[in-house]
Amino acid sequence: NNLIEITPSAYDYPLLIRHLLDTPLARSPDQVIVYREHRHTYRQFRHRLGSLASALTDLGVKAGDVVAVLEWDSHRYHECYFAIPMMGAVLQTANIALPPEQLLYTLNETGASTLLLNVDFLPLIEPLASRLPNVTRFILLNDRPELPATTLPVAGEYEALIESGSPFFVFPDFDERTRATTFHTTGTTGQPKGVYFSHRQIVLHVLATLVDIGVATAQGRVHRDDVYMPMTPMFHVHSWGVPYSATLIGLKQVYAGRYAPDVFLRLIRDEGVTFTTCVPTILQMLLNAPGSEGVDLSKLKMIVGGAALPRPLVKAALERGIDVCAAYGQSEACPTLTIMHLSTAQTTGDADTEVELRIKPGYAPPLMELRVVDSDMRDVAHDGKATGEIVARAPWLATGYLNDPKASERLWAGRYLHTGDVGSIDLDGALHITDRLKDIIKSGGEWISSIDLEDIILRLEGVTRAAVIGIHDDKWGERPLVLVHLLPEFKGSIGRDEIRAHVKRSVEKGLISKFAMPDRVEFVDALPLTSVGKIDKKKLRAEYRVQLPA
Ligand code: ADP
Repeated sequence: NNLIEITPSAYDYPLLIRHLLDTPLARSPDQVIVYREHRHTYRQFRHRLGSLASALTDLGVKAGDVVAVLEWDSHRYHECYFAIPMMGAVLQTANIALPPEQLLYTLNETGASTLLLNVDFLPLIEPLASRLPNVTRFILLNDRPELPATTLPVAGEYEALIESGSPFFVFPDFDERTRATTFHTTGTTGQPKGVYFSHRQIVLHVLATLVDIGVATAQGRVHRDDVYMPMTPMFHVHSWGVPYSATLIGLKQVYAGRYAPDVFLRLIRDEGVTFTTCVPTILQMLLNAPGSEGVDLSKLKMIVGGAALPRPLVKAALERGIDVCAAYGQSEACPTLTIMHLSTAQTTGDADTEVELRIKPGYAPPLMELRVVDSDMRDVAHDGKATGEIVARAPWLATGYLNDPKASERLWAGRYLHTGDVGSIDLDGALHITDRLKDIIKSGGEWISSIDLEDIILRLEGVTRAAVIGIHDDKWGERPLVLVHLLPEFKGSIGRDEIRAHVKRSVEKGLISKFAMPDRVEFVDALPLTSVGKIDKKKLRAEYRVQLPA
């Protein structure tokens, strides 16, 4: 063929995570990173990265080794995001909320040889230690006055290691395709699957998403005066990559530790947080938490993704002055697939119009090709009606799953990443997500979108949460089962008939097909959540003994 082979030369500048630090260190070296009483500048942060890498090297950690971290969201985690990949090692962000057996599986699958763990997780790890044959170094992360006793063979304590290390550690140059991070999907629809990302992928994801949200309006949706605090856990998809982006633009950063709405609210107030990311359930908890009304949220800009953003939630957030927009992503996509933001012209202040725009998952960022295709990989019409699978190409998408060539092949069938999500593209080019392929309800020849049906049910006043799952039906294959959570004061007045009558009105208005009329409606006191706070449909299906056809 005619391709010219180009050999890397001395002029090639590898896209390394290390290079994300040059700008903030030059422009805002005195900006701060906050966790509890810790407050250090970017200059100190850079020194701490050197010290951490030097101490880890002294302990025997080498390029290519997997270093796992089991930690709440903290300044230490932020340091690990940088120091570990910058050494050429691979950062594994272990999921603190997985059941012990699954956590064990994920640590063994990556072959992590070093485990940095918060002492709060000692009771979880101690009984598993004998089944972690690869881990030779346990390093403790501690916020308590005293280091607790442990049966683990401890190689050091984080702060002591930083004190002992040299801030002048020289981070090497290497190929940008070197693996930087690895983690597992949360297993919402199956066993956790391992994915991994290179320096190049992370750097390009940071740049593309920043271009997208940074130029959104005249003022930019994110700018250097913002104060960032994640409300998406750092163990999940690099907290959507924002700790990297926030560092590149030199923002003040605030890490909240263990997740609790009152802590978030206090930090928003006391540290002046203006920019955050979360899943819808966390936004709902923030708005409903005791004392929430007393905290000014009107400076807050928020990207909400991970699940469909319900209209009433956006309305409630807008009433508090929060600038909230949806985004869509997944673990396999590092995670960004689309982001919504309003143009200056669209920011009319008319809540009803804005809500309709803000709930849209939005548009693909620069450098991404996003398509909705039929089973032969042909594009469906962009008319807001035709649906198909959402597939994408971009330089930051996971190239495969750990140790699973078959699943990796399926993921990239036809040279596009298959998201496993069904959607359509509106006349104005914005994406609409119908459902996950695994959640969609196949009733006779019809596909019923669980997201659309939930959306309709959530519009009924008094309904706080709704989940729709498919249950086996001899005649139709599957039928929707609706699970509803009500505000206490509506418990007497909303019953099955009211829910069905409400859906019927929506059918009559043409909002949803008549096949979506639920036969079964159950009222629940709570809905199970996944480790990242999304409604756990896998658990619900198991609970309601759903026999899904193979
Ligand atoms: P897991 O698959 O383990 O739950 P992910 O965070 O990777 O973890 O989940 C990604 C999935 O969440 C997507 O494939 C999609 O089904 C769903 N999702 C993410 N964002 C949105 C959104 N804005 N609207 C609807 N669904 C979404």
